[in-house]
Amino acid sequence: MKRRRRFCCYCGGGVYEKDVDGKLRDFCGQCQTVFYENPLPVASSIVVNEEREVLLVKRAKDPYKGMWCLPIGFAESDEEVRGAALRELKEETGIQGEIVRLIDVDTVDNYFYGSLAIVTYEVKAIGGDLRPGDDASAVTYHPIDKTPSLAWISNEKALRIYIDLYRDTWAMLDSFKHLFPEHTVMGKVIPGEAEHKTFLSNILVKLIERDIEQICESWARDMRHGAPKLMPHIRELLELNRSILFGVQRWLSGEVSSDFARFLATGAQLKATGVRLPDMVIALALSRRSIWLHVVKKKFLSSPLEIYATLELNNRIIFYYDKVFFAIAEGYCSDATDGMR
Ligand SMILES: [Zn+2]
Repeated sequence: MKRRRRFCCYCGGGVYEKDVDGKLRDFCGQCQTVFYENPLPVASSIVVNEEREVLLVKRAKDPYKGMWCLPIGFAESDEEVRGAALRELKEETGIQGEIVRLIDVDTVDNYFYGSLAIVTYEVKAIGGDLRPGDDASAVTYHPIDKTPSLAWISNEKALRIYIDLYRDTWAMLDSFKHLFPEHTVMGKVIPGEAEHKTFLSNILVKLIERDIEQICESWARDMRHGAPKLMPHIRELLELNRSILFGVQRWLSGEVSSDFARFLATGAQLKATGVRLPDMVIALALSRRSIWLHVVKKKFLSSPLEIYATLELNNRIIFYYDKVFFAIAEGYCSDATDGMR
């Protein structure tokens, strides 16, 4: 139980409870001091790993000894509450963190400590080794939707707020990962100042530029299965594919080039070398697919922003490929018409 005050800390007089401003408060009859009770600040952290598990501490001491809770502790008078959250996290779990955002502030009347203001942050783990501190008998990550009941009601409340906050994001990520189950999380797309007034998918342009040869190689591999009839022409087509990829990259960089006309000649050449138009459709479809798959593989996808950027990229390259294909088909057909004349 929270211990009661018996003597005044200023004059040593006896303290008793008295109705002040409609509430019973400690009062010193000798020096007339009213002791107002204010909540003590407590800082707490929600640390969630990539498996969507939340870091919990098993309490080694009272109150709530033996129960699990979020890493939590009192803020000292000379430190910021967010600093206290990180300090307690380190002390109790060994994990070093950085604050992501404020999740909740809750005031409670606790039988053991009295009035508390519990401030809960979302914290990202950035280092340290998981090991229980002095106040903890165990520390471990629990699946966030299957936590044991937590010592502090405020912890449960904050965790619900956190889950609500991320519900849509997780649903989007899960759905997207379902499309590409074999890929894992890689680097993040974080837009810089320059990207603000332009397409988010421009961030992915550098990736395409850097990896053009790799993308061409995977396209050539796909061609073996997808368009075996074109294998006798693979050298010329590889050159064509490379020039399309450079065109894609220029297109995405905002150089709205009008050089689609050059693909008219390409269409005519393809016709002359005996390539069938339906096979060209497949070759171009595989070319577009090779860009999309490469980006998904390299930049998969840990936020709605990244998913958006990737889908946007796919939309933008569809426009480009449509124009290329139109020009090739146009060239192919005009050549045929010329031949018949
Ligand atoms: Zn007094």
